[in-house]
Amino acid sequence: MRKPDAQFDKVTDISPQFFKDNNLTGVILDVDNTLIGLDGKNLENVFEWIKSLQESNIKLCIASNSKNREKISKFANEANMPFFLLSCKPLKRGLKKALKELNMAPENVAEIGDQLFTDVWGAKRMKMFSILTKPFTPEKHAISKFKRKIEQRRLDKINKQV
Ligand SMILES: [Mg+2]
Repeated sequence: MRKPDAQFDKVTDISPQFFKDNNLTGVILDVDNTLIGLDGKNLENVFEWIKSLQESNIKLCIASNSKNREKISKFANEANMPFFLLSCKPLKRGLKKALKELNMAPENVAEIGDQLFTDVWGAKRMKMFSILTKPFTPEKHAISKFKRKIEQRRLDKINKQV
């Protein structure tokens, strides 16, 4: 298992220049704990960040595993970007749809999300640039907390590799 191509604390830490430097002209975004916390609150300054990317001619699109149309569509409409629900990451299906929407080669697209086993693995399978961010609200359910622990252990191991 290879490392994510890049790791940041939160999406708002990634500058438009970072995308330019890596020849990335498109971005596919996860929602839960990447843009919106599990408490329903948006990440601080997230719309300003999205706008700064759009002004740098970077095309954005949401691919969420969520089925919550109300929540995702509200955010996507406010951010002025297309969205896909039930993306089934790490399977290719949903990411393929998003990629088709962006109409770009996978190597020019970054997939950004907070989960190694869904977002990063999905991006790797699609040969896209993978960016892992940190979840910013705690998991609610025992099973999710457990998954996080396994994921963190795996990430620590990967990060120790050269
Ligand atoms: Mg997520």
